[in-house]
Amino acid sequence: MTTKAFASQGDLQDKKITFERLSEHCWAYTAEGDPNSGVIIGERAILVSDATATPAMARDLIRQIRTVSDKPIQYLLLTHYHAVRVLGASAFAAEGCRDIIASQGTYELIVERGAQDMKSEMERFPRLFRGAEEIPGLTWPTLVIGGGNPMRGEVPGRLSIDLGGVKVQIWNPGPGHTRGDTIAWVEEEKVLFSGDLVEYEAGVYTGDAQLEEWPATLDALRALGAEALVPGRGEAMKGRANVEKALDYTRRWVTTLYQAGKEAVAAGMDLKAAMAHARKKMDPVFGHVFIYEHCLPFDVSRAYDEASGIKNPRIWTAERDKEMWQALQG
Ligand SMILES: [Zn+2]
Repeated sequence: MTTKAFASQGDLQDKKITFERLSEHCWAYTAEGDPNSGVIIGERAILVSDATATPAMARDLIRQIRTVSDKPIQYLLLTHYHAVRVLGASAFAAEGCRDIIASQGTYELIVERGAQDMKSEMERFPRLFRGAEEIPGLTWPTLVIGGGNPMRGEVPGRLSIDLGGVKVQIWNPGPGHTRGDTIAWVEEEKVLFSGDLVEYEAGVYTGDAQLEEWPATLDALRALGAEALVPGRGEAMKGRANVEKALDYTRRWVTTLYQAGKEAVAAGMDLKAAMAHARKKMDPVFGHVFIYEHCLPFDVSRAYDEASGIKNPRIWTAERDKEMWQALQG
């Protein structure tokens, strides 16, 4: 039996970037299964959804944006707290970035586990952290949606930003990939930027997820009737039928995984047996997709915990990552 390289430490092949226009104001920056970003370009300002993992990676994104617009990138949305999405944020300061937006749930998760997550993710996926020495530390939002009492100048649960000729709505549609995920929605053009709440033909990482509630959140996204979607990972989806395909893909992953976790706990299996049980259900359907083997042990660990009644996902540290990997993939 061979030992699999930890997480994605064996993945060294850079991905091909695609920067494509989805509608009059909306663009997708996708990378063959690596984390995507979204770009919304107005007459006055630009909003970028997800900052990439490092300032160097963010500058690649900014270079693409500058081929089509010279407007200030005034808003940066953090769809959730994961390091690969947020640690490139400092590169946007030189581009006119005024507000870094996140939900209250995301802010709380950065406070609670941002430092551990940063260390853990950097070890899991070294290729995505090119130029990590430039990261100045954790990324802190400056505008927190749903941050308490609006009478005290705090921000309500749903934000609408006018970029000039295009409005973006931002809110947390419910628990899923984390408990604080936000989406960006351009209603006039029916374009949805889902972050990791929706993926397509790539591993759905659920190590910090709320699996029980995620399907209802996907239903809420489906109800928007999007005509185009930038998922967290995977290609941009164009046309209603393809958007539905990505929603179905994500739902199938989440429900198959969680069902396997519940069955394992009900049968009194230990975690290693739960992993073998989950593989029987997951491998035939999803075994071929990018970062499947990276995600699965983290996902099974979380499914097993949630099925055992652990509501708040346990914090992954670099040490816990390695112990779990040794036990399940070693
Ligand atoms: Zn994530």
